Amino acid sequence: MPTPLRTDVHTAAQRSKNMSAVRSRNTKPELQFRHALYAAGLRYRLNVQLPGKPDIVFIRARVAVFVDGCFWHSCPTHSTYPKTNAMWWERKLTRNKQRDLHVNAVLAGLGWLVLRVWEHEVGGGEQGDLKCAVARVQAVVRARSCQK
Ligand SMILES: [Zn+2]
Repeated sequence: MPTPLRTDVHTAAQRSKNMSAVRSRNTKPELQFRHALYAAGLRYRLNVQLPGKPDIVFIRARVAVFVDGCFWHSCPTHSTYPKTNAMWWERKLTRNKQRDLHVNAVLAGLGWLVLRVWEHEVGGGEQGDLKCAVARVQAVVRARSCQK
């Protein structure tokens, strides 16, 4: 959990560090999820230049997958608002949510199907959840690969 900071002590560097934390790459949950997808026979691409920088991309099926951090993307089960400087955090986390919705819409407009999985689904060590998340991606990717 990030340490809450007062707005007035936010330097530009700190702000940009916070921004990058929203979409940090190669987090442990993300790696775990990627390994599970690979083990399930799915072949994906990373670092594809698309709006919102999806974590995992299936080019042929046009499926973009995001692994959303529970804190930064306000997961309904684990979202917390830091009590210090609460207003600033609330605005920030609300903006993140709005950005996610915007990215979903932009990608959909470009013909991509967006799947979002929570960090807690794929990184919590709960095999059931990880398997379900993999199955969800697998079903969609398979279906969309056959459509052409
Ligand atoms: Zn969560």
